[in-house]
Amino acid sequence: MPYTAPVADFRFLFEHVVDLGQVTSQDRYADATADVIDAILTEAGRVCEEVIAPTRRAGDTDPARLENGVVRTSKGFKEAYAALAEGGWVAVAAGQEHGGMGLPQAMATAVNDMLSAANLSLQLCPLLTQGQIDALEAWGTEELNALYLPKLISGEWTGTMNLTEPQAGSDVGAARAKAEPNGDGSFAVSGQKIYISWGDHDVAENVCHLVLARLPDAAPGTKGLSLFMVPKYIPNEDGSLGPANDLRVVSLEEKLGLHGSPTAVMEYDGAKGWLVGEEHGGIKAMFTMMNNARLGVGAQGVGVADGAYQHALAYAQDRSQGKSKIEGATGSIVDHADVRRMLASMKADTFAARAIALACGVAIDMSRATGEAEWEARAQLLTPIAKAFGTETGIRVANEGVQVHGGMGFVEETGAAQFLRDVRVTAIYEGTNGIQAMDLVARKMMDGGEAAFALLDEIEAFAETARADMPDLAEPVWQATETLRETVEWLVATEDMNARFAGSMPFLMGFARVLGGYYHLRAAKADPEGSHARLARFYITRLLPEHTGLLAHARGGADDLYAITPDDLAA
Ligand SMILES: Cc1cc2nc3c(=O)[nH]c(=O)nc-3n(C[C@H](O)[C@H](O)[C@H](O)COP(=O)(O)OP(=O)(O)OC[C@H]3O[C@@H](n4cnc5c(N)ncnc54)[C@H](O)[C@@H]3O)c2cc1C
Repeated sequence: MPYTAPVADFRFLFEHVVDLGQVTSQDRYADATADVIDAILTEAGRVCEEVIAPTRRAGDTDPARLENGVVRTSKGFKEAYAALAEGGWVAVAAGQEHGGMGLPQAMATAVNDMLSAANLSLQLCPLLTQGQIDALEAWGTEELNALYLPKLISGEWTGTMNLTEPQAGSDVGAARAKAEPNGDGSFAVSGQKIYISWGDHDVAENVCHLVLARLPDAAPGTKGLSLFMVPKYIPNEDGSLGPANDLRVVSLEEKLGLHGSPTAVMEYDGAKGWLVGEEHGGIKAMFTMMNNARLGVGAQGVGVADGAYQHALAYAQDRSQGKSKIEGATGSIVDHADVRRMLASMKADTFAARAIALACGVAIDMSRATGEAEWEARAQLLTPIAKAFGTETGIRVANEGVQVHGGMGFVEETGAAQFLRDVRVTAIYEGTNGIQAMDLVARKMMDGGEAAFALLDEIEAFAETARADMPDLAEPVWQATETLRETVEWLVATEDMNARFAGSMPFLMGFARVLGGYYHLRAAKADPEGSHARLARFYITRLLPEHTGLLAHARGGADDLYAITPDDLAA
């Protein structure tokens, strides 16, 4: 089933829902004219449809494998990656100084969304490179950046992130990898890192690892971590490849899905590395990469949701089973009310998650362009929501996609199951969704809820203007925003962090539900007689009400939860 890039949807969202115009009117993004944006979306869409999507199945049926210490990737990946690199699609938001297009992050998010729908396993490779580029642009020395950035941006080299160790998963501060100064400005990095995505491969000539490790005098915990650039091949000053570094792939993981993405156990044995950022300032520098990747992973969820939806819709249009009595019935299962409900939910949720991801991109762009603290705070607030809601949507929609297929969803032949297996990990990596939710109710509320309240004010102001012409849609959105406001007030007034954490995931999902209502309302206002208004009505009347239960759960505190003892759990 061919993939169709949702170029028209992006145009609509940028124009009517997330207001990309405010970004492109800034000097920093002056080159991103309407023509450029249109051309980029169209061409990226074409590449995804014609070059990348045809390689998706091979990523499932012909997994990456380790052969004599070298990783071989799935059939067709090398050529598809080469097309991405040649087209400049690896890093569209990278700075022009080192060869990037310098486009807004919102555009990069749209491109990542389409690439993820086309082939999630392959897309993870450039996604990690993008995060690494961001970290280097913010923290790398001039010398390091002059050597690495042009190669990463062109796609000749790729980037990885190395945080996880067997005893250090969500608790990154438990990492034990070590770095000793070599006395010549470089460091000898040693230790084992696990689950390293694209830790090795054959699609590009060098793999650049950003590794968190401890210097000899380091304090325990995250405060003692430093960040190092550790390349597979140590580059010469002119950028040509020098000797192999002292690192190796120990093994590749066998996984539920995402088989085309090599997930490596890496061993560093005194490998040469160079400091990125300050000594003991590694977690701060790595956070630049992680924030970039969190939005990127949210876009992965959205892209897969779209891919799974298109797949399910095509199947449903073709499959006939029983007869619907509705007028003008086509004879396919699309006419059955329950199938129509599933398809409408999939489409409406994908729209909401996509709008949230793009709005996060816009906030990042506005923060970069204006330097205003309010935009930075908005970007910080939206990042965990975009990550967790985007990926939960990917999983839910892909799961529903299997259901739409009936038995054919459970057999591998149709490819519906691959979407679900591949996307499942997006809720786990890049900080589990539980960790995202805790970040939202703790760190992102340290401003006393200011950033959240500013966003809620914006929603209510819009709902008030929409009330006159579409009260049936505007009123529920306004009411839901008030419930969310009360919940944020409860959160910031609750000092017991465990009470906040106990309901953090429902809070995040409830917040996303309300945001989805806002973006659907904006879409309906721009297209009052069209399909956007009909989809908005479905979302607002049937999906938005979920916020009530979610936000009540969020305010429940921790007492009843901990009243269930470990013995009760085992009973
Ligand atoms: C396919 C794949 C690719 C990956 N790629 C990379 C990569 O490129 N680089 C890299 O460094 N890592 C990578 N990872 C690792 C990934 O980021 C971790 O798996 C993830 O952060 C969770 O850590 P963990 O597996 O140790 O789970 P744990 O930390 O053991 O978590 C288990 C459960 O407990 C919860 N939990 C843990 N701590 C808390 C807490 N304090 N409060 C509440 N709940 C908590 C979690 O949410 C989760 O539900 C990858 C993982 C996979 C599966």
